[in-house]
Amino acid sequence: MGAASEALAETGHEHEIVFIGMVNVNRDNYLQGVVDVWRCRGCKKLFCDDKRYGEPLKASVGFETIPDDEEWAVLTCTTHKDVYMNSLGAKPGKRITHACRGGEAQEFVVGQDYSLSPKTANPIHRLFLVKDNVNKNIEAGFYRLTMK
Ligand SMILES: [Zn+2]
Ligand SMILES: [Zn+2]
Repeated sequence: MGAASEALAETGHEHEIVFIGMVNVNRDNYLQGVVDVWRCRGCKKLFCDDKRYGEPLKASVGFETIPDDEEWAVLTCTTHKDVYMNSLGAKPGKRITHACRGGEAQEFVVGQDYSLSPKTANPIHRLFLVKDNVNKNIEAGFYRLTMK
């Protein structure tokens, strides 16, 4: 309720949010995390909610919103051992800061094609658009990303 009424002020209507599917993030066929994807029937705006494997569910219920000119994307951070992912708003030219599990702070710039610069080799970082991957699997394992 809270998120919907806050959003009312921004958009002029009360979002009618329905669940449309999930983006699965895999590490070489093993599920590492899921992004639940919701969409408003009225304005078609997407809302995302991350569920990372092995982490407790968040206590707060409510939808994060991103600016209207951004797209929901999934950032994956891939090492030889694991894949970490989170959803975020992105648009070409945006600077994204991210902390790897090992603690390294990274800063990327999103390209026109939603690639990330600079390229990193280990961990590997990739950005995937949520709208292109609903009810699909993103294969973000080290082997899959480096395989030619
Ligand atoms: Zn709406
Ligand atoms: Zn990282």
